[in-house]
Amino acid sequence: MNNVETMMNVLPIVLRGGPAFATRGTSASTGTKLFCLSGSVSRPGVYEVDFGATLRDLIDLAGGVVAGRSMRAVLLGGAAGTFATVDDLDVPLTFEATRAAGLSLGSGVVMVLDDTTDLVAYVRRIAAFFRDESCGQCVPCRVGTVRQEEMLDRMVAGADPRGERELMLDIGRVMRDASICGLGQTAHNAIESAVLKLGVLS
Ligand code: SF4
Repeated sequence: MNNVETMMNVLPIVLRGGPAFATRGTSASTGTKLFCLSGSVSRPGVYEVDFGATLRDLIDLAGGVVAGRSMRAVLLGGAAGTFATVDDLDVPLTFEATRAAGLSLGSGVVMVLDDTTDLVAYVRRIAAFFRDESCGQCVPCRVGTVRQEEMLDRMVAGADPRGERELMLDIGRVMRDASICGLGQTAHNAIESAVLKLGVLS
């Protein structure tokens, strides 16, 4: 067993049947989903909701953003996921709706970042994590994870962000298309999302 959530979904399907399970959620994303709320929320924890609940619903379930803070972004799907902004709060959290919105459900991680978060440091930490985690078996991931971290360092040092962005998109395409496993194929997602969507280092 490598995914307890999937195994737990088997139980209601066996006990009550697939059609009963599929009455929850949406037609393309049936049943319920576990989301792990962390970061700047009042009640961090694991919440189970029907597929189709929104980010706003989840943050409300977790007691809202910590008092006195305002939401800056949400890292959706973990380190290999993408950043959502306040404009995405009402996107239904289903496979189909998040894909259409350019977001990623990934592991179900919902990390809320508030206005005190140092986004540059945060994104550099993600890049360092993937550089460490790359096993080195294939070149696109082994070299790409190093190159994207170097790119962030150059941007912090004041390099022209337009040129760096072009390079970043190229590196990301190669990593996504040519890496052997899911780690390399997704190691660029959050970096690209932070630069293009949040405007980090722009
Ligand atoms: S993509 Fe997978 S196999 Fe290739 S270097 Fe990265 S972790 Fe290793």
